[in-house]
Amino acid sequence: THFGYETVATADKEKRVAEVFHSVAQKYDIMNDFLSGGVHRLWKRFTIEVSGVRAGNSVLDIAGGTGDLTIKFSRLVGEKGRVVLADINESMLKVGRDRLMDRGVAGNVEYVQANAECLPFPDNSFDVVTIAFGLRNVTDKDAALRSMQRVLKPGGRLLVLEFSKTTHPLLSKIYDTYSFNLLPVIGKVVADDADSYRYLAESIRMHPDQETLEGMMRSAGFERTSYHNMTGGIVALHRGIKP
Ligand code: SAM
Repeated sequence: THFGYETVATADKEKRVAEVFHSVAQKYDIMNDFLSGGVHRLWKRFTIEVSGVRAGNSVLDIAGGTGDLTIKFSRLVGEKGRVVLADINESMLKVGRDRLMDRGVAGNVEYVQANAECLPFPDNSFDVVTIAFGLRNVTDKDAALRSMQRVLKPGGRLLVLEFSKTTHPLLSKIYDTYSFNLLPVIGKVVADDADSYRYLAESIRMHPDQETLEGMMRSAGFERTSYHNMTGGIVALHRGIKP
């Protein structure tokens, strides 16, 4: 199978994404550490730091997967707060729930199977919405951004952590070689799953760059948008406020 976007009709994308995350769910955490050399932990830590999440807040972690952000938010919001870990994929959600239970994460976390494009929550529900390494997998990104805007309270913040465009040509070259030649091989050796990691590389390449994503956030109704590049733009953290 070839998971390139060019060769796959949009209608098939959802199915592909479902297959990929069903397939990688059990090994997702190990592979994250392995493929990023642990650096994804720093990207996530920074996201938590700038989220401004406080005790009593209501937080939605959409495409939350195995719950790296949710675990931290659960501690920050405390007993009076609430964190919703939402993901479209049953397998990812199950691995996430089991993992959080094992870690004794507090009872302030809810688990919801949901598509980011049409979030099943009332308007003005959350102080903060996060989507980490999730948006590039969503078929209709504009619909997803509008849906996130809708469920945020006025003054609430959206944080989008996602692969982005490297800022240095040499770094781009090294990174492209890594992701297109090495990633599938590592995926094959470590997880016996070259296709999923080929999808990963292609989805990163197709994702909108920093300026484009910021424009999309503005079109979806966010204000005071900004982004912060990390690791030479391999990853960017976008922020926006619902007016
Ligand atoms: N946020 C976690 C993290 O940073 O480790 C998981 C990221 S994982 C690369 C991407 C997640 O997005 C998967 O769990 C996948 O099921 C989820 N996903 C893909 N499309 C989605 C959609 N349309 N709505 C909600 N979640 C989606």
